Amino acid sequence: MNKQLVLSVTLILALPVRAQTIPGYSPQSAATERSTEADVISRPSPASASAHSRFLSFQPHMAGTPAQMRTRDYVVSQMKSWGLETEVRSYSVWMPHPLSTRVWRIAPNPVELSLEEGPIPEDTTSIAFPQVMPFNGYGAAGDVRGEIVYVNYGLIEDYAQLDSMGVSVKGNIAVARYGRSYRGIKAREAEKHGAVGLLIYSDPADDGYVRGDVYPGGPMRPSHGIQRGSVMNPNGDPSTPGYPSTAGAKRVPLSAMEVPHIPVLPISYGNAAELLRGLAGKSIPQLWQGGMAFRYHVGPGPVQARMAVTTDATTHPYKEIWDTFGTIRGSVYPDEIVMIGGHRDAWGPGAADNVSGTVSVLEAARAIAEQVKVGKRPKRTIVFATWDAEEWGLLGSTEYVEDDSLRLRRSAVAYLNQDDVAQGPNFSGGGSPSLRALLRDVAKQVPDPSREGSVYDVWKKRANLAADSLEPQMGDPGGGSDFAGFYNHLGIPIADWGFGGPQGVYHSAYDSYHWMSKFGDPNFEYHVAAGRIGAVTLLRIANADILPYDYVEYARTMRRFASQIDRSVADKKWRVSSAGLTDAIGRMEDAAVAYATARDRALTAQLQPATAKQINTTLLEVERQLTRPQGLVTRPWFRNLIYAADENNGYSTMVLPSVNEAIRLGDEATVGKELTQLAQRFDAATRALQMATELLRRS
Ligand SMILES: [Zn+2]
Repeated sequence: MNKQLVLSVTLILALPVRAQTIPGYSPQSAATERSTEADVISRPSPASASAHSRFLSFQPHMAGTPAQMRTRDYVVSQMKSWGLETEVRSYSVWMPHPLSTRVWRIAPNPVELSLEEGPIPEDTTSIAFPQVMPFNGYGAAGDVRGEIVYVNYGLIEDYAQLDSMGVSVKGNIAVARYGRSYRGIKAREAEKHGAVGLLIYSDPADDGYVRGDVYPGGPMRPSHGIQRGSVMNPNGDPSTPGYPSTAGAKRVPLSAMEVPHIPVLPISYGNAAELLRGLAGKSIPQLWQGGMAFRYHVGPGPVQARMAVTTDATTHPYKEIWDTFGTIRGSVYPDEIVMIGGHRDAWGPGAADNVSGTVSVLEAARAIAEQVKVGKRPKRTIVFATWDAEEWGLLGSTEYVEDDSLRLRRSAVAYLNQDDVAQGPNFSGGGSPSLRALLRDVAKQVPDPSREGSVYDVWKKRANLAADSLEPQMGDPGGGSDFAGFYNHLGIPIADWGFGGPQGVYHSAYDSYHWMSKFGDPNFEYHVAAGRIGAVTLLRIANADILPYDYVEYARTMRRFASQIDRSVADKKWRVSSAGLTDAIGRMEDAAVAYATARDRALTAQLQPATAKQINTTLLEVERQLTRPQGLVTRPWFRNLIYAADENNGYSTMVLPSVNEAIRLGDEATVGKELTQLAQRFDAATRALQMATELLRRS
């Protein structure tokens, strides 16, 4: 036991004892649960987290490479050694790797730009291993040339601005800066507007020297640092849209895949300066000026560039990927599953993204497995997963969810996601509104590494709220990580959390153990805190007599979204009305309040496991009812009608997407139809709550 651990144990004991009731628990169960949770919090350790991190970030481990076999074997052997049942599922996915990526300025003063991130003496990983070739996953092969056009962030509105300036990217190479949207949207828009190629660079104003000292002197991106990343928009293997990439699965041809058909490459700001400095043409809108020390112009030209990408798309585009699972069988409800997962692949050594999330999952697994060894087995089954090929477009988790959808829909109680969870001190959490109260309460149990109270205390203090009764804001499930299959496709409640900080080495060769131990989480205590929150959240759900969803907070959150729709419809002076939806949400809130009262009353008496089982099965239906089999009009894979990734952004969230997408399209008739359907879905969810209430009253 090292000094840090002793300190944090003292802090745990020093945290005030909170009220003894826990939603979903009888008084006796709650007392047992409190002591189980205090015990599980004491088990994760910085020494152990640091050792996992060092092993897993030892070398770059991109999906589809032998290095990924090594991380797979490590995770499986660790879990096995702790007594978990383990399983590996492999999928064969269409995932072309680059063979060569090159960029030249061909006029004026021809020069080939170096795409090397290069070794940094104190960062031994950057010396010992070659970097993953800078490229954007699913960008097309090709050899193109053209005049340069600077397109700012490359968003829909940026192209509208260019149009108004009379500038086109048609036949040219677009240069966009990273940020403000998922990079796949930038690729889609560049291609749509006729660019022959796209270069995406990290502007120093966004994550370089404008923000702080650059690596290795500080955490931010150096002038030769490069952000890799996928540019595919849909989730999962593009050769098997909507179904799993199992042996013998039918594959769609490249022409039918939703992937870019132009070459796309990431470059550093050192490279971007070579292309942007000499641009002429119109003066830019002031907001388009980035952080480099010259005035930006849009072009086109006179600077011209050439980019050449070759891949193995025509020789061997299919690669094996591996998801791993470690299972602890539940003692009372073995067929109900609580799952936690994090992706195991990376674009480099990936110490933050996502060795940190993998370590959090491992430490939670070790903590709970140790309890099982001393006779404390959770009531529900807990599964600890690691996903492959998340970085390419959530491939591992999506193929798994599509593969196991029947079982998951029937028995998955919650999915917890861990992605990029320990690279600074700033806590954030989010997910389905039904799990937010639970996550807040868990954050109250776990000590903050700053030694200034619980994670919740520090989180709330930093949120600087207008009134003490307010809660820190929590994130809605948008896009961009492995919860999507569970939440958007199947309607399973999800939660995620993490500790944020500087993002200067995101998807770079410098996201290394050295960066992590110098800047991100030097003592590995934020890794430990994330793992503790994971362990407690898993147990809190797994051991509950009645599943601890909060549908009062859920319905109240929905009420806000309905009033936003109300305003949008009024602004457009449409005749359709959102009153039916508002009423349906009101009925859900009433039913949720009645349900919570009945639950708390029933839990003070003795509830038979068979009755509890019936109630829990009914509760699973609440959020499942808010999905529809045919999905969104724009994207059938997205079946959840509460939140979806914004189609025009990728990272941000669209709430009540079936209605709000129709509003954005200005389609009043569809808005009316979708409002009616959504109100019906809310009524179906309400019926599930009412049925659960009935069962409780009869118990
Ligand atoms: Zn990640």
